[in-house]
Amino acid sequence: MSKPRILVVEDEEALSVLLRYNLEAAGYQVTCTDHGDEADLLLRESVPDLVLLDWMLPGLSGIELCRRLRQRPETQRLPIILLTARGAEDERVRGLATGADDYIVKPFSVPELLARVSALLRRAAPERVASLLQAGTLVLDRTSHRIKRGPRSLHLGPTEYKILECLMERPGRVFSRAQLLDVVWGDDSEIDERTVDVHVGRLRKAINEGKERDPIRTVRGAGYAFDETFTD
Ligand code: CA
Repeated sequence: MSKPRILVVEDEEALSVLLRYNLEAAGYQVTCTDHGDEADLLLRESVPDLVLLDWMLPGLSGIELCRRLRQRPETQRLPIILLTARGAEDERVRGLATGADDYIVKPFSVPELLARVSALLRRAAPERVASLLQAGTLVLDRTSHRIKRGPRSLHLGPTEYKILECLMERPGRVFSRAQLLDVVWGDDSEIDERTVDVHVGRLRKAINEGKERDPIRTVRGAGYAFDETFTD
């Protein structure tokens, strides 16, 4: 299973280091930024699984960023936990009103933070932790790494498997080629985006036989998505 990705937006360096260390130790893939505007840019490029967002930031404030994220369809339901200062009750109320899912008061305990992160991820995307991903007769078993379409066992290479897993986790969500590269090959890869098309082609060949319906949608100019209406 790919690691859930968390964006930490925090300008206190010591806190940002602490968060990265503990989140990585807990199995998350972490990106940190200390600036609201940079966070906004990063989130336009790639949508993580969850954002830890400090309220008081240089440049664009946490609350303004939260408001913007809720206005864009691709981040409308992105899980956001706001980090607020002790005693600032109005910040919390405003934060939740602006669309944050949860808030944590500084200074916080690391185990509590990890528990909140994991609870919110489970609530937001239960399929990220499910061992079976299923759409119609297509079943992907993460425990055994087996895939079936109806009675037929499908044989996928490791790359095709990861692409299918990623798409099936979020039916209907469009992943750009760059995002799929990130998920499958990792952030630092220098693989050409066209390679993604080659592997999606192989994936389609492996899962669709004859005139069977193709569950993978090509979204022109955007990328690929698992067809959320697929029930075959
Ligand atoms: Ca701050």
